[in-house]
Amino acid sequence: MTWQTVDWQKKIQTLYNKLLLSLGQCDLCGNNLNNCILPQQTLVCSSCFADLPLFKQAIVQGDLLNWPSINKALPNINFDHLVSLSPYLPPFTQWLPQLKYQGRFELASLLSTLLAQLFTQESFEKYALPFDLMLSVPLHPRKWQIRGFNQAHLLAKPLAHHLQIPYDRTALARVKNNNSQVGQSGKQRRNNLVDAFMLVKALPRNTKHVLLVDDVLTTGSTTNEISKILKRADVRTVTVATICLSLPETKN
Ligand SMILES: [Zn+2]
Repeated sequence: MTWQTVDWQKKIQTLYNKLLLSLGQCDLCGNNLNNCILPQQTLVCSSCFADLPLFKQAIVQGDLLNWPSINKALPNINFDHLVSLSPYLPPFTQWLPQLKYQGRFELASLLSTLLAQLFTQESFEKYALPFDLMLSVPLHPRKWQIRGFNQAHLLAKPLAHHLQIPYDRTALARVKNNNSQVGQSGKQRRNNLVDAFMLVKALPRNTKHVLLVDDVLTTGSTTNEISKILKRADVRTVTVATICLSLPETKN
């Protein structure tokens, strides 16, 4: 009897969640979404949007590497600029796992729209390079098969559309599979990632400025390793764009 009850409870909860979304209710507070700020935005009300813990981009002039504590936490990096929406704080600590592990694809649309908006802000003019190409951090094929999708690609595809940048999801490949890197030190991550990625096809001629997209930057090891490969292929600047930064120094 008990197992049947639990099963039905789950089903009802799922249906209820779907109903809330179809009624246009805020993902965070449940209020209705009559006052959406963004036309593409159908998940968060104006009040919750205003409460999002976004980085103050004007202070760092559009590049988080200008923030001393972030710069200090990312020594010896191979990328040139860092753009990110928010420290890894709620609601992003719920949204990103929901996108990655529960396949809530509608969140990719919201998050990529918010990220795209950053590039149109005045503070970004200094770094408004004419990006030649956008790439996303690839998953190893085995992980991709199990998960069924790559969350970085889900974010990059609409971002490329918003920013009108050519996007190639297949130029980079992950050729070395590691277990989850959660909880590992920066040194362990760096060791795991040696030769983990490769360019599987030549970049278009004169690809000088690349925008590399991932969901979260934790130690910078992954984006650093890929940037190293891109620089070897004559790319001049790599700008890393992520939804969140999870550096210990930026959590508060
Ligand atoms: Zn709300």
